[in-house]
Amino acid sequence: MAIATINPTTGETVASFKPHDAAEVERRIGEAQAAHLVLKATTYAQRAEWALSTAALLEAEVEPTAHMLTLEMGKPLAQARAEVLKCATNLRFYAEHAERFLADEVLDDPTSVAASHAYAHYEPLGVVLAVMPWNYPLWQVIRFAAPALMAGNTGLLKHASNVPRAALYLDTLFERGGFPAGSFSTLLIDAHEVAAVIEDPRVKAVTLTGSEPAGRSVASAAGGHIKKAVLELGGSDPFIVMPSADLDAASTVAVKARVGNNGQSCIAAKRFIVHADVYDAFVGLFTTKMRALVVGDPLDPATDVGPLATKAGRDDLAELVDDAVARGATVLAGGSAPDRAGWFYTPTLIADLTDDMRLVMEEAFGPVATLYKVANREEALRVANQTTFGLSSAVWTADAEEEAWFIGMIDAGAVFVNGMTVSYPELPFGGIKDSGYGRELAAAGIREFCNLKTVWKG
Ligand code: NAP
Repeated sequence: MAIATINPTTGETVASFKPHDAAEVERRIGEAQAAHLVLKATTYAQRAEWALSTAALLEAEVEPTAHMLTLEMGKPLAQARAEVLKCATNLRFYAEHAERFLADEVLDDPTSVAASHAYAHYEPLGVVLAVMPWNYPLWQVIRFAAPALMAGNTGLLKHASNVPRAALYLDTLFERGGFPAGSFSTLLIDAHEVAAVIEDPRVKAVTLTGSEPAGRSVASAAGGHIKKAVLELGGSDPFIVMPSADLDAASTVAVKARVGNNGQSCIAAKRFIVHADVYDAFVGLFTTKMRALVVGDPLDPATDVGPLATKAGRDDLAELVDDAVARGATVLAGGSAPDRAGWFYTPTLIADLTDDMRLVMEEAFGPVATLYKVANREEALRVANQTTFGLSSAVWTADAEEEAWFIGMIDAGAVFVNGMTVSYPELPFGGIKDSGYGRELAAAGIREFCNLKTVWKG
């Protein structure tokens, strides 16, 4: 794919970028390896100081950075600002907690293994390649980079081809924050060049956030060289509404959970599974609130939903909806692209789905919600678990026994009760099934790219 900034609000190409040649890629891998040796020898306190000054840079630069994100991928400006500030929060979180998360784990009773002293010690792995998507061009990267650098690893970023300005901002950000040169840098390369970087002996591991096909390809390359991989892939999260739910709150959150980031979030609620007793009431509220959304220029503060990031993404979404409609689905809101420049799609609500429709099993990466009426909790669970994905989920109920049952039975990396899925630095994040493996954030996230070295002393 050409590396270019194309404004999705207008469809105009703003800037094109020359990819790095083989010599430049080699130079950057070498620099990342050298920086790792420097970083590994620094203290947590030193790395925390650099992480905090990187956070301060993000905060000071929030306005121009947010505008850049909106220009490149179309998210409403307020959401772009929130993304930049969340990155700063994550850096501050790991600056404060990395040392505790990676503290030695001392064996309570060394006599059990006939040692005078035994413990496990976390060490950084080295250079880690991060292959990242465009939907949260800063957050997805810093979700990985903050813990990685605090652990003493260094990062190489292969960003999505449609967000080169974000990629180049990240290329210098950490060095400007004080980290040694080469601690984190961008490779402007095509997706087909990723496998060669994974193969490089100086690159010790890879993390990918993106689609299932990209995940399979990167995992195969990593597997071929016995290298650690973390995969954060797609999702088609269920949002279950049971009779005891607060329907007004549930329908308000349903809209937010579906259309945030213009509907392009892996953890967006995508399938709304509603008990028959409250189906009509919930759908009435949901439909009214979806129809009230303002679609428009993401720089306009009145806009709720901007364009999709790419033309291909918009066309794929339209195809999924058209396929369902052709097979008999009912459109309650939206259902088509508005007649205007840019890659917009009207917030859409679709009911009466049948198993032969692609929308039932595939991820709708845009503002399209699907509705399922179910007779009881067993049917709700069957629909919730029927896709190949298992990223997150939400359940709305005021019944404690029912809540516990769903928490135990849903196949997903997370369950949010009476709320929507949100990623927090304090909570582990990741999926199961075709949504990937490994975890980011919290203590689990920083430990993914460490060697847990066992030490035994006789
Ligand atoms: P994508 O096409 O998979 O792209 C993601 C990244 O992978 C880009 O940098 C892309 O580079 C690269 N890539 C694509 N094919 C590759 C290959 N065969 N080998 C190596 N690298 C490859 O995904 P997307 O369309 O940008 O993002 C949307 C998907 O990401 C959705 O499925 C969404 O659910 C998922 N996602 C998951 C999470 C999570 O945390 N689980 C978070 C956000 C998004 P190019 O741009 O150059 O092709």
